[in-house]
Amino acid sequence: MGPAVAAEQVAKRFGGLEAVRDVSLEVRPGSVLGVIGPNGSGKTTLINLLTGAYRPTGGSIRVRGTDTTRMAAHRIAALGVARTFQNPRVFTTMTVLQNLFLCEHQGIGRAALARLRADADEWLALTGLAQHAHRIASELSGGQQKLLEFARAMVRRPSVVLMDEPFAGVHPEVKKILHDRIKETSSHGETAFLIVSHEVPELIDLSESFVCMADGRVLASGTPQEVCADEAVIDAYLGTQPGGAA
Ligand code: ADP
Ligand code: MG
Repeated sequence: MGPAVAAEQVAKRFGGLEAVRDVSLEVRPGSVLGVIGPNGSGKTTLINLLTGAYRPTGGSIRVRGTDTTRMAAHRIAALGVARTFQNPRVFTTMTVLQNLFLCEHQGIGRAALARLRADADEWLALTGLAQHAHRIASELSGGQQKLLEFARAMVRRPSVVLMDEPFAGVHPEVKKILHDRIKETSSHGETAFLIVSHEVPELIDLSESFVCMADGRVLASGTPQEVCADEAVIDAYLGTQPGGAA
C-alpha cells in the first residue's frame, strides 16, 4: 500500500517567492513524523500542499499509493487525510457534538451513522470534552477548541492526520491530552501523524522520524536524534530557539 502520504520534490511558488522547494518526505502508516524549522520555512505551506488546500507548482504527492497531486481537497480528505490548524477552525455557532457530525458524504447509511455516533462519543470522552458536548463551540477556550478540532479529525478514522503547531499556546493540561492521545493512537498503528511543532522535546517523544525545514527545503531528515545533532539544524534553528539545542 505504501506510505500514508508521500511528497516527491514538491514545490510551491507564490509569485517570485519559493515557499516550498523540492521537498521529498514520507509518513509511513502508523508512524509519527515530526517537522521542525524556523518561522517562514514552509511548514504550513507543506501541510496546505499535502491536503490539497494548495496545488503544487512542482513535484508530486501520493496518498496510500494514489496520486493526489492535482486532486481537490475534499477528495484527498475522503482518502483519509485529516488536518488540524494552528489556530483552530471549529464551527463556532454549532455545538461541540454537531462539530463532530459534519460529513463530506451525503446519504451516509444508518450503520455508518451509528458508528460515527459511537466514535464521536468515544472521542469526546478521550479529549475530556464529554461534559461540553451540548455547548456552543464558541464558548470553549482556545485549547478546548484545539481538542475539538482534533476529535473532529479522529472521528473520521483518518489514515493520516497533519497537525500544525498543536501544542502552541495551549494550557499544559490540553497539551498533555493531545500528546497522550497522539501517542496511543499512533502506537495502535492505524493512524499516522505529521506534526509541525516548535516544542522539540515534546516532538522527540512522539516521533519516529524528523524533518527540519529551512528556507522552503528539507535541511535534514532522519531520526529525531540525528536531526537534532545536525550542525546545519543547530545553526538554522535549534541554536536560535529558547531552550537551545535540545
Ligand atoms: P512556516 O509555517 O514554516 O512558518 P509558511 O509555510 O507559513 O512557513 O510560509 C513560508 C513562506 O511562504 C513565507 O515566506 C510566507 O510568507 C509565504 N507564504 C505562505 N503562504 C502564502 C500565500 N498564501 N501567499 C503568499 N506567500 C505565502
Ligand atoms: Mg506555520
